[in-house]
Amino acid sequence: SGQCARADAILKEFKDKCGTPCSKLQQVADAMTVEMHAGLASEGGSKLKMLISYVDNLPSGAEEGLYYALDLGGTNFRVMRVQLGGSESGVLDRDFTEASIPENLMVGTSQELFDYIAAELAKFVAQEGDRFNLPPGRKRELGFTFSFPVMQTSIASGTLVRWTKGFSIDDAVGKDVVAELSRAMERQGVEMHVSALVNDTVGTLAGGRYTNKDVAVAVIMGTGTNAAYVERSQAIPKWHGPQPDSGEMVVNMEWGNFRSSHLPLTEYDQALDAESLNPGEQIFEKVTSGMYLGEIVRRVLCRMAEESLLFGDTVPPKLKIPFTLRTPDMSAMHHDTSYDLKVVGNKLKDILEISNTSLKARKIVVEVCNIVATRGARLAAAGILGILKKLGRDASRDGETPRTVIAMDGGLYEHYTTYRQCLETTLKDILDGEVSKHVVCEHFNDGSGTGAALLAASHSAYV
Ligand code: ADP
Ligand code: MG
Repeated sequence: SGQCARADAILKEFKDKCGTPCSKLQQVADAMTVEMHAGLASEGGSKLKMLISYVDNLPSGAEEGLYYALDLGGTNFRVMRVQLGGSESGVLDRDFTEASIPENLMVGTSQELFDYIAAELAKFVAQEGDRFNLPPGRKRELGFTFSFPVMQTSIASGTLVRWTKGFSIDDAVGKDVVAELSRAMERQGVEMHVSALVNDTVGTLAGGRYTNKDVAVAVIMGTGTNAAYVERSQAIPKWHGPQPDSGEMVVNMEWGNFRSSHLPLTEYDQALDAESLNPGEQIFEKVTSGMYLGEIVRRVLCRMAEESLLFGDTVPPKLKIPFTLRTPDMSAMHHDTSYDLKVVGNKLKDILEISNTSLKARKIVVEVCNIVATRGARLAAAGILGILKKLGRDASRDGETPRTVIAMDGGLYEHYTTYRQCLETTLKDILDGEVSKHVVCEHFNDGSGTGAALLAASHSAYV
């Protein structure tokens, strides 16, 4: 009908601007490879920080004993303990707990945040029980997964470069996050030594490699997004430390901060960025990850409501509030297979307080979700291709094709089925036919927790 003609026009224009044909994805992948080289060449040489993780040995499988892991990286944080049985028996036992970070602590002071975490850790340690064994005379050891950009100074120390994903605690920037955690643990009476500080991507890489030796890359698609991979240490010009015996070094790309003129950005993305906590930063993250996808959809729907009668003759007030439409709700609507799009109708009513939506309006909503998710998933696949190109794993050599497993994790990848399928299909499509048979994405659920515990074991103060 005429009432929706303007909405249709907005939809069409948005779809055009979000287009990601394979030729464009190849350009994005090539740009990613170029930035990787630049970030490895010199400090500050690229938008990609390409952070040295100090992990030059991934788990061998021989790790043994009781280790803790603490994962802080977004909406939730997890504490876990693992009893490792060595090469014969692998992981003997695991136990974890999860809590959300109260919103006021995400923008408060460093001490408040770390005291809260240490207090939760203290409660968890108190419930250890006798399934877990710590040799007498030994202090408990912890792998700390901290998923924000950190400039590492050793395997167990590093300073926070900046916050992302809705965190903004000014007095923590530039501080050693291990020292901050250790002081909070002391204040809360937790006797524990931090043996490894790792990014969640590095943890996932370690956890993935523990179970599958073909794992060479790890990618997180959650609240934010990031990737890590195993680089030849000789191929890191900015590394002036000793060359590791392994000849390898895990690099935390911080790829969420990637940007390129080849990224298809729209006016909605520009407005979202301008109004965000970190304008101009994390552009790749802002078009691919869970914190932002629902918000992009909201912005498009809001424009449609303003310029057409899509949701009646006034703009629904809730639709004007940033971040009211969350990505899990977007994914629920996108996955609605009922003939009358009942789920979409209910979500619009419950979350945005828009009742009596027409089927036509619901269909438009689903299409907006589809456009935003498809663009994000395809760009994420292009980013992975960029890494494979850097590693020379995008082509066969001397008639041999290496097998590459990409260790995947994160709530977006785990729960947004259509997004995940689109990412995986796109990666196959943009890879050379023969090579695509040898590259697979594999989900490692909470691989980063296990990985951090494994890295704490291999960097134990007692080994
Ligand atoms: P992080 O550790 O970065 O907080 P997680 O890996 O725990 O992230 O993933 C949480 C994020 O995953 C949420 O912020 C949300 O964006 C996304 N997510 C969770 N559930 C769903 C879902 N059902 N559909 C789509 N996205 C989801
Ligand atoms: Mg996480």
